[in-house]
Amino acid sequence: MSRVSYAIAGAGLAAACLGAAAYAQQAAPPPFATTKVDGTDNVYVFRYGNAQSMFVVTSAGVIATDPIGYGRPQAVVTYVDEIKKVSSQPIKYVIYSHHHFDHIAGGKPFKDAGATFVAHKRARERLVALKDPHTLLPDETVDSARTITLGDTTLELTYIGLNHSDSSLVMRLPKQKVLFAVDFIPVGSVPGRGMIDSYPIEWEDSLKKVQAMDWDKLIPGHPGAPGGRLGTKQDVQNLLGFLQDASAAVKAEAQAGKCWDPVEKELKLPKYESSAGYETALPFVLRRYCGLWGRGT
Ligand SMILES: [Zn+2]
Repeated sequence: MSRVSYAIAGAGLAAACLGAAAYAQQAAPPPFATTKVDGTDNVYVFRYGNAQSMFVVTSAGVIATDPIGYGRPQAVVTYVDEIKKVSSQPIKYVIYSHHHFDHIAGGKPFKDAGATFVAHKRARERLVALKDPHTLLPDETVDSARTITLGDTTLELTYIGLNHSDSSLVMRLPKQKVLFAVDFIPVGSVPGRGMIDSYPIEWEDSLKKVQAMDWDKLIPGHPGAPGGRLGTKQDVQNLLGFLQDASAAVKAEAQAGKCWDPVEKELKLPKYESSAGYETALPFVLRRYCGLWGRGT
């Protein structure tokens, strides 16, 4: 091989490596990450795999949220370690966003650290019935609202009705104008599989209530698309539009007797086909609305 050929081959290899590195970065982010929310000095996002939680460092202790340890207890050990890296304050609270195990299983390391667990009262009722060995019951429950004041920080917990579950608490930091809401406001993607206990009509109402609250940044329970970004009020508006369009489209078909198969196999919402997860999530969206408008469930 001539020197020129080597140079070309080398350049090709370098390009291939760069491409591979870029791809690897995109395809496999680090297993976990802790990120301070821009514009705040005490609000953090802890991501492990494809789930994430908010934690807040105050002058009198740390408020953590969802343990995100379903099927991976090491994630929760990592979560507690990550908190200890940024604060020597004790972990005072763990707040559950809702009762689904993929967000709240695995809380034992927090309990061992002395945290008090808080959830909506319906979450506790469900967890008492389910008896999941890996999911701790909350010590305290919230009905419609509660404000936690710890040191210099105020965190509002608000129940805004039925949406993706019947136990969602929206968490708002009024001073930082940051919101933490899980699963019922996917950021930049179509709400997909695993939302079988949703309440489609009331879900729209709860989005309108979120829109009316005072906040700038939304931390979602799964990294926002693209790039793990946080959400804005525009994202909430986009989701509301999507849900309303999907609901109206299926309603007409359902009332013409087209649920389940014709709707699930044939109905498309091309306006949204560039949204993350559109292809895989759409059948689940259509099934939910077929259940609602085609069966009354
Ligand atoms: Zn959920």
